[in-house]
Amino acid sequence: MTQKLFWDDPYQTQLTTRVTGVSGQQVRLEQTIFYAFSGGQESDSGTIGAYPVLEARKDGLDIVYTLAEPHELRVGAVVDVHIDWDRRYRLMRLHFAAEMILQCVYQYCPGIERIGAHIAQDKSRIDFARDGSIAVLFPQLEQAAAGLVNAGSPIITAFEDEPSQRRYWKVEGFATMACGGTHPRTTAEIGGIKLKRKNIGKGKERIEITLA
Ligand SMILES: [Zn+2]
Repeated sequence: MTQKLFWDDPYQTQLTTRVTGVSGQQVRLEQTIFYAFSGGQESDSGTIGAYPVLEARKDGLDIVYTLAEPHELRVGAVVDVHIDWDRRYRLMRLHFAAEMILQCVYQYCPGIERIGAHIAQDKSRIDFARDGSIAVLFPQLEQAAAGLVNAGSPIITAFEDEPSQRRYWKVEGFATMACGGTHPRTTAEIGGIKLKRKNIGKGKERIEITLA
């Protein structure tokens, strides 16, 4: 099974490892820094052995990478893996920004239901089941988010259960949440954020988050 180094060090952008499986344009690696779409966070982009990666997909606890073109990689080959750092860092920050806002919404609206979430490079979004505009919460949410960012609190991540690879993050005095995504080291790294409301249907409210 691929050892996922992006959890130990989400700042690592280069890796030398071995190919452990090849099936047509799909390859598996001994170790990886290349995140595969999960929990609403989009995949990284980058290369394996200089071949662009078209898709990174979770396969159980493993990850399968589809290369964009025919390749000459064989099992046992030593390859360099590179990821696009600008994209990863934006995904990490927008991902945690969305989780900060989500946890604040939970605090202000106990029992509210989250019905969706997506983290892309330019913005993240969270959808809620709610009647009435969620924008009434924005002053409170913006103030709370700014407080967390200014506090520069450590974001601790660890396994909740290692065999099943269930992970969580924790910010002391704020919240704990189950999540297998990549997270910055401190809340300060999120920086300023902007919130925007979208009504996406009856009883459905979306919060869009962008980096300031
Ligand atoms: Zn997360």
